Amino acid sequence: MTRTFDVLVVGAGAGGLFTAARLTQRGYRTLVVERLDRVGGRASTEDIDGFKVNNGAIVIEVGGITEQTFAEVGARFDVRRATPPLLYRIGGKDVDVTGGGWGFLLSKLTRQGAKVLEGLGAARTDDGLPDGGLSTAEWLRRFTSNENVHGIFRNMCASIFAVSSEELPAKVFLTYFTRRSAFKKFGFCPEGTIGVWRALADVIEGTAGEGSEIWLDSEVRGLHLGDDGLVTGATVTRAGETVEVACRAAVSDVGPAATADLIGRDRLSAEYTATVDTTPCSMIVVNFASRTPLIDAPGMLSFAKTRRMCYVANFTATCPEMAPEGWHLYNGTSVPVPATGGFDAAEETALLHEDLHEQIPGFADARVLSTSVWRDDWPPQRAVAGFDLPHTTPVANLWNVGDAVKEYANGGTTACAETAALVVEELAERLAPAAAR
Ligand SMILES: Cc1cc2nc3c(=O)[nH]c(=O)nc-3n(C[C@H](O)[C@H](O)[C@H](O)COP(=O)(O)OP(=O)(O)OC[C@H]3O[C@@H](n4cnc5c(N)ncnc54)[C@H](O)[C@@H]3O)c2cc1C
Repeated sequence: MTRTFDVLVVGAGAGGLFTAARLTQRGYRTLVVERLDRVGGRASTEDIDGFKVNNGAIVIEVGGITEQTFAEVGARFDVRRATPPLLYRIGGKDVDVTGGGWGFLLSKLTRQGAKVLEGLGAARTDDGLPDGGLSTAEWLRRFTSNENVHGIFRNMCASIFAVSSEELPAKVFLTYFTRRSAFKKFGFCPEGTIGVWRALADVIEGTAGEGSEIWLDSEVRGLHLGDDGLVTGATVTRAGETVEVACRAAVSDVGPAATADLIGRDRLSAEYTATVDTTPCSMIVVNFASRTPLIDAPGMLSFAKTRRMCYVANFTATCPEMAPEGWHLYNGTSVPVPATGGFDAAEETALLHEDLHEQIPGFADARVLSTSVWRDDWPPQRAVAGFDLPHTTPVANLWNVGDAVKEYANGGTTACAETAALVVEELAERLAPAAAR
C-alpha cells in the first residue's frame, strides 16, 4: 500500500521539526519519519532515575527566528531564562558582564582591552572583516597575547560553535557577534530540551495539522526519483514493515552526505557528490547531580582558564523539575583538541574531569549520571560554521535542512530554525498544498 503526502521530511531533529511545523501550518500534508523512538535528534532528553538529562543541546535561544517560528506555528514556547544568564569565572571570581558588552568583559580580563575592542569595532564594517583563512585565535593574537582573553575567546568558540578558536574562522566569529543575535538571550526547557520539540510535534500532529503525521521508530531507506529527476517518494520501514510513501517534495534533516546515500550517489553528478561530506565538530559532556548546590551561577558558567571545559550549566536553579526533589542537576562540557580531527576520547574525557575537579568544589562527591562523546556521525555540528553546504540540492524538489546547511556564521538549533524558514519559502514558491489545488 502506498501512503500519499505533500511533503516527506526525513528526520525529526530540530531542522526537520521546524520545517514540518511551518509546512503543516501552511496546509501541506506532511509526513515526518524518524529512526529513533523520540523526537529531537541531537537535541533530545532522556530520563535517568528521574533526572531529565539532555542529550545534546541544552539552551534554546529566546527571541529571534526560534521563538518567532514557535509563535508563527502556534506552538507553546516553554523556555525559562536565568538571571543573569551567564557568568565568567575570571581569576577565581564569577563575574556578571550582562549589559556591559565587550568593553566591560575585556576590562575584567586585561588592562589592554582597548586594542581588542578596536578590532571588534573595525569588524562592524564589511571592509574590517578579515578574510576566511584567518582563525579567531590568529586574529586575536594581533591585539593581545593575554591568556585570559584567549581563554574566554576559546571557550566562546567552543560553547557556540563546538570548535576551538584555532579552528573557527575569525570572519565567522566576528560576523556572529557583530551582525547576528549571538545567543544573548536564552533559557532552558523545564521538560528538558525535548520539550520544545514535543511542542512542535503537537502542532504537526494536532488539529491544525490535519493529515500530517510523525512516524517514530521508522526509517527512510531510500528516496525515489522519477524520470524527470524529481523526488516522487520513499521506501520506509515502520514497525518491521516496508511502506511506500509518495510525495511531491522532500526535505532531509540527515545531512547532505546521508541524503545523497538515500538517493543513491550514482543518481547524482560526481561533481555534486564530491562536495557532500562535511567536517563535523566534537564535544564531550558529563551530566552530574548533587544534593548540595555546587555553583552560584543560575544559568551558565564559563571560564577564562581551563584545560578544555568551556562551560558548566546549572539546570535546576531555574528548572527544579528537571531533577528529583532535593537534587541539583548540572552538566560540564568540553571541546576536545582537535575538535575537527582525530582525538583520544579517553584522554580528552580525563582532561574534562580534571577541570571539573578543579573548578567545581564538591564534584568528587557528585553523582555522575552520564558521560558522552559527540563526534563523527552524531556530532554537535555536522559542519564547522563557515564551511556549510547550500540547502538546495541538484534535485529541484529536494532540500536539506539542519546544521550542515546553516546560513553563514550561525550555529545550533537557531541555525536550524533559520534554514527551515528559508526552505519552506522556497518549497512554497514551487508547490501549493494539494488540498488548496
Ligand atoms: C553536546 C551538544 C550540545 C549542544 N548544545 C547546543 C545548545 O545548547 N543550543 C543549541 O542551539 N544547539 C546546541 N547543540 C547543537 C544542536 O543540538 C544541533 O545543531 C541540532 O540539534 C542539530 O539538529 P539537526 O536537525 O540538524 O539534526 P539531528 O538532530 O541529527 O536530526 C536528524 C534526525 O534524523 C534522524 N535520522 C537519520 N537518518 C534517518 C533515516 N534514514 N530515516 C529517519 N530518520 C533518520 C536521526 O535519528 C535524527 O533524529 C549541541 C549539540 C550537542 C551534541
